[in-house]
This record gives sequence, structure tokens and C-alpha cells, in this order.
Amino acid sequence: MAELGESWTTQQLVEFLSLVSSFPDEQTAICGAVERAAEALEAEVGAVVSGGALVASTGFPADKVPTELLIAAAEGKTATIEVPGAGRCLVISVPLEEAVTGSLVLARGGEDAFSRLEANLLRGMGRVLTLALQSLRVLRDERALRKRSEEQARENATLLATLQERQRLLERLSKIQRSIVQRADLADVLDAVVAGTAECLGLDAVGLRLLDTEDEEWTMLVASRGLDSGRFPIGSRAHVRDGVSGLAVTEQRLIIARSDSCDTDLLAGLACRGLQSAMAAPILENGRVVGALTAGSRTANYHYSTAEETVLLAFAENASLALTDAKNYGTALHRGLHDMLTGLPNRVLFLDRLEHAANRALRNDPQPAVLFLDLDEFKRVNDTFGHGIGDELLIEVGQRLQGCIRPGDTVARFGGDEFAVLLENVSREEEPAIVARRIMSSLHEPFGVQGHDISVSVSIGIASQSELDDDLLRNADLAMYQAKARGKGQYELFEPAMHATLVERLNLERDLALAVERQEFELAYQPIIELATGAVVAVEALVRWRHPDRGLLAPGAFIHAAEETGLICLIGIQVLRQACAQTAAWQARYPSGTPLGVSVNLSVNQLHHSELISEVSRALDSFGLDRSSLILEITETMLMQDLERGVLTQLKALGAQIAVDDFGTGYSSLQYLQRFPIDILKIDRSFVAGLGEANEPILAQAIIDLGKSLNLRVIAEGLESEEQVTRLIDLGCQWGQGYHYSRPQSASELERLLARSGIKGWNPAPSDSLVS
Ligand code: C2E
Ligand code: MG
Ligand code: MG
Repeated sequence: MAELGESWTTQQLVEFLSLVSSFPDEQTAICGAVERAAEALEAEVGAVVSGGALVASTGFPADKVPTELLIAAAEGKTATIEVPGAGRCLVISVPLEEAVTGSLVLARGGEDAFSRLEANLLRGMGRVLTLALQSLRVLRDERALRKRSEEQARENATLLATLQERQRLLERLSKIQRSIVQRADLADVLDAVVAGTAECLGLDAVGLRLLDTEDEEWTMLVASRGLDSGRFPIGSRAHVRDGVSGLAVTEQRLIIARSDSCDTDLLAGLACRGLQSAMAAPILENGRVVGALTAGSRTANYHYSTAEETVLLAFAENASLALTDAKNYGTALHRGLHDMLTGLPNRVLFLDRLEHAANRALRNDPQPAVLFLDLDEFKRVNDTFGHGIGDELLIEVGQRLQGCIRPGDTVARFGGDEFAVLLENVSREEEPAIVARRIMSSLHEPFGVQGHDISVSVSIGIASQSELDDDLLRNADLAMYQAKARGKGQYELFEPAMHATLVERLNLERDLALAVERQEFELAYQPIIELATGAVVAVEALVRWRHPDRGLLAPGAFIHAAEETGLICLIGIQVLRQACAQTAAWQARYPSGTPLGVSVNLSVNQLHHSELISEVSRALDSFGLDRSSLILEITETMLMQDLERGVLTQLKALGAQIAVDDFGTGYSSLQYLQRFPIDILKIDRSFVAGLGEANEPILAQAIIDLGKSLNLRVIAEGLESEEQVTRLIDLGCQWGQGYHYSRPQSASELERLLARSGIKGWNPAPSDSLVS
């Protein structure tokens, strides 16, 4: 596979952008994009799914596109798909944002998981595709508008075929239409309508009135020709029931008023404008009457011809078009700059405001600051409660965020669970952190969404303008990344060193991918002891990485990165197979009444991986390990959903036992102990640490009692002293592990211990039949 460096990714994205922008319409852009993305990640197949339907795919024979599978893959319901000719392929899916709801999905054969860099690249491609689709959409709207104007002009042309001034009129009209299309200022377009009417009709006065938006009982003069501007200035008001314009508005039709054919009130109105007769045509906005275009003559009993009526109507129509489009354009503009779900500004508008703020800061002192926010574990909310509730939560998060800032500041949503805040004028250095804390505590208050109490934790990165050409958003993003790495639910201030940290992290991810390929992982084994006798009953397999430059690394140095990149699944398989092979060998060499147990740690990604069951089963079979000797360790935080319960049930059906690792440090709700098929509790070493001293062993006691009452075995972790062992035995705990007995050691080192102290073996949990 091509090695991914940062610049490689950027260059790919730039190329991708120019490719996608070169397509004439949305469909070909989507097809081209998915093809290119598949090529870049060396994926066999790819697809774009939108609104629950397949919109494009690549790599499949035309008649063999597995639509439903691809949709399931896009929704994250399956991690692999069967591809004709390529076998089982690993799936990766990234969301398309904003207006285009959907996902870009790829699947690749072979064992290589998608790296974090590849995932980032694909996410970037998703963003680029979204942007390209948005601009294609704007283009399409513009084309449609132009076509409508042309149609309008054609219609007018046939109507006016008999008119002498046809040419001039058409010129006028098309000039007005051009200015509408070119988004000229609305006031200018309306003025051009009035000027054109005056010129084409050659009448004495023309005026255009619109309803006052504040009070629709009144109309306002917005443009005029030939009227006494001293008495009737622009902006002068008239009651909506007054005059010829008023009548056109209230009756919504063309009105003609002449001295021989209308009432005295109308004539008085005309007379005070120096006119003897007039005609008025209604102006509409989106089909609703909002004003009138009026033309009048000083000649008594002037006869308006049908052609002149038509001219007036044609100009009124253009005024309508201009008004409607100005409004539509306003909405389109709003849509292009705002997030559809929350109505907050989107990335484009945010960047624009940031640029302005930065420019202002060049001249004045207060500096802008950017907060980059990413909700923690938001995917879990979606998975647990469904997307409807997830969406509602995002809307409410947006509202709370707005409550945390000052009026001039901006909250934007960048899509997904990413938000950004722009603080325009930061005069005190500590201000952004104060806002960050306010946001964190505001979001912490539970949200009541459709009867569920959901509280949200958020990671925030902060960057303030310190150097002129600083990329605030990128820096805040980096700081956010750091906040996540430090354990989520925190904020971090950007520091230039973070660039180095990122590079380090990218190197780690690259090395980790290579390590999987080169199988650089080794296992250390820590014995699990029967406390009363000191006999070894089982071993816990703990992964180590023999890094070519950095030596032997403990899991703390790489497990997190392995989980984030998804590589943990492949590492986990290697760990599982090594542990099973080694334990089977020990079982053969040191036969015991019940065979030696082996405990293997699983991470949450593995639990969600569709291959887990078959991999465990394969590992057990390959090495002929007694099935009841395998213990799989999970942590409390993994136990939340039915999905996990299903996986655990299947694992138990294979014969394995399930242990809850670091028990007591995760969720406070103990309900899951009854809901999930669990055999063993491993007391976290923090509860054991105080035991040798004067401390009351209340918590350890409680856990041991809980285990007993639920018929679970209890293993104490982190035993470092004889006193701790004695206390635990007194409290009724039967098993334990820790430095007191042995540090984790290599297989050959442990072998000496096994040979020396003998093996008692691990009985299948007595609670088996009760729980399963
Ligand atoms: P864990 O599963 O709770 O493993 C016990 C950790 O406590 C081990 O650290 C072990 O060396 C350490 N330990 C054991 N006895 C004592 C003691 O008496 N005192 C003290 N202070 N520490 C003791 P290690 O090997 O660094 O592993 C750390 C964590 O990494 C493990 O915690 C486990 O969560 C994770 N891990 C290890 N191997 C794997 C693996 O293969 N897959 C996954 N997903 N996670 C693993
Ligand atoms: Mg463990
Ligand atoms: Mg533990």
C-alpha cells in the first residue's frame, strides 16, 4: 500500500478537489468522486449512499451491485462486505455533510485495516465532495433562473409583437432581467423598472409602491419618474386603500382610472399629483400582492391602448420577478452559509467572519480567538437512541452554545458533532478559557430529548491570535485533538509544540501499521494466583510492542492510537492467537486437573468487529485449546447496548468466560451485571492499594460481596504486598494477581515459575449455568 504522509494527503485532496469541480453536474461528480476515492485508498469497491438510497457505486459489475449491503455499510451496520472476485472486504464509511446527507463508503480486500490517515483522507474527500456538490447546486439554480428570465422575455415578445417600440422595450426588459440575474441591488432594479416604464410608455409620471413590511396598511414609494419629488419623495407613505395604486393592490388586478370613468376620491388623488388619469398594475412576490406599478398622464381622458396596458404589465411582472428572486436568493444565500440542521452558520460563513475579525485585529487591539469543539462519544448517542434524537440533541447543543457567548460572537456547526466558536474581541488572555468552561458546564446539564436525559461532554481546543499569519482554526483543531488525547471532556490551549505532537502521533500511527504487518507484538504473561494456596490458576496475556527503534513498549504507549486507527482489531487477533498457542503448549507440558486458564484483553472496537466470533473460534480450534480455559476481559464502559450483549452471548456459546476488567472504575449502574452474561469481576487495583494500611476496606468488601451474591468469581488486581493478600483472603476473595507474585514476564521467564510452583488450573465458572 502507498505510504501516507501528511503532504501526500493534502496533495491528494487538492487533486481530488480539482477533479470533482471539473464535472458538469452533481451525478457525474458523485460517480467520479467515488471512483477516485476508491483508487486513492486502493479499495476494490466504493459507493455513495444518500437519504437511505444508493446514488453511485464503483467496482461492481453493473448487474451485481449489492445495494442493501452498501446501505448497511454506510450506516455502520456491517464492517465487512462480500465482493465478487475480491472476497470479504473491510469497510470504511465517512459522512457527507450538511445539505447532502449521506455517506461515502469504500471496501477493501485483504487484511489491511484502513489507517487513521486513510480515514482522514477519505473524510477530507467527503468534505470536498460536499462542497463541490453545493456549488454545482448553486450553478444549477442560477441556470434555472436565467432560463426563466429568458422564457419570460420570449413571452413578452410575442405579446408585444404589434407594438412599435418593441425593440426598445425588449432592450429595456432584457436589461432589467440581466440585472436581476446578476443580482444587482434590488432598489436599482426597481428603479430601472420605473425608468423603463416611463421611457416605453412616454407618459408623464410613473411610480412604484410597495407595502410597508412593518405595517401593511401602508404603501411606500420606492421609485418614481415625473412626480414632484418635493411633495412625493422616495419613502413617502400612502394608505393602502388610497389612490389607483392602492386599488391595484387591494383588488389585485390592473386598474385604469380616467376622469370620465371613476369616483371623485380617485380623481382627487390623481389631481394632487398633477394627473388626469392613470393605470396601475399589481406587483407580486412569490404570488402574493405586495405593491403596484402606476403610470399616469396629465392629458384629460387619455385612452390607454391594450399595447400600453401590456407594457405596464410586462414591467410590473419584471418587478415581481426581481422581488421574488431577491427573496429566493436571500434564502439560497442563507442556505449556502448555514447548517441545515441547526440553522447555525456553517464553515464557509465562519471562515468569512474569522477573516474579517482577523483583519480588524490588524488595525485594533482586541484579538479574535477560536474554540473548536467536538462532542465526546456522540456516535454512542446516535447508536443508542437513534439519529432522530441525535439530531435533536445537536440542535439543542447549538442553542446552548449560543447562550454561552456574547451577541457579536459566532457559533458555527461544521457538520457531525463539530462546532466552532469565534470570539471577536478578546481583551483578556483568560477569556477564551472562561468561555470554554462555561460551555462545558452548560452542556453537562442533562438535555431532555424525547423523554431521555442525555448529558454531553465536549473536548475543546482554543487558539488565540498571537501571530499575524496564524491559522487559528487549524490551531484550535489541533488543540482539540490534544484535548481528546488527554482524555476528553477537557479544553486545551494551542501551543506551537502541538504541531510536533501531531507529527509524533502520525509517526506512531504509521509505525503501528507497519508493526501489524511485521508482527512486532509480543506477549507478557502475569500469573493469576489462588490466594489461599499460591498456585497458578491462569495467566493474563498483556501485549508489548517491540519497536525497532524505541525498544519494548507497554500498551499505554500505543493502545490508544491502535484503537483510534482501528488497528487494534488486527493486533487483537495476533494477541489472541499467540496467547492461545502459548497456553495450549503450557497445558500440554504441565498437565493439571483443570487446565491452565488464559485471560486476554479485548477493546471495544474488537467487540464491535463482525469477525470477532469467527476469529476467537478459529484461534481456539487452531491450537486445540480447551475452550473453557479462555477468559476474555472487557471493561464496564463497553457494556451498554444489546449489540454487546449479543456478542458476549455468542462468545460464551463458544465456551469462553467473560471478565469485567478494572471493575469499579466505570459506570455506577450495576444493572448490567444482571443483563450481561458475565462470569468474573476483576477488582481494580485502586481498591486494593489502600488495603494493607489502616483504611477501611469498604469498597473492596462491597465488590467481593456483590460478586458472591451474583455468583461471580472475583479476582483482585495489583496485589503488591503480603498484607493486601491477607486482607483479601479475610474478605473472602479467592484469586488475585500483582507484582507481589510476579510482574508480567515473557513466556520463557514465566515458564520457570510454572515449572517451579506448578499449576492448579482454572475451573469453569460455577455460575455458568445460572447466567447463560
Ligand atoms: P489491565 O488489563 O488492567 O492489566 C493490568 C495492568 O496492571 C498491566 O499493565 C500490568 O502490568 C499492571 N499490573 C499488574 N500487577 C500490578 C501491580 O501489582 N501493581 C501495579 N502498579 N501494576 C500492576 P500493562 O501491561 O501496562 O497493561 C495496561 C493495560 O493495557 C491493561 O490493563 C489493558 O487494559 C491494556 N492491554 C494490555 N494488553 C492488551 C491487549 O492485548 N489488548 C487490549 N485491548 N488491551 C491490552
Ligand atoms: Mg486486563
Ligand atoms: Mg485491570
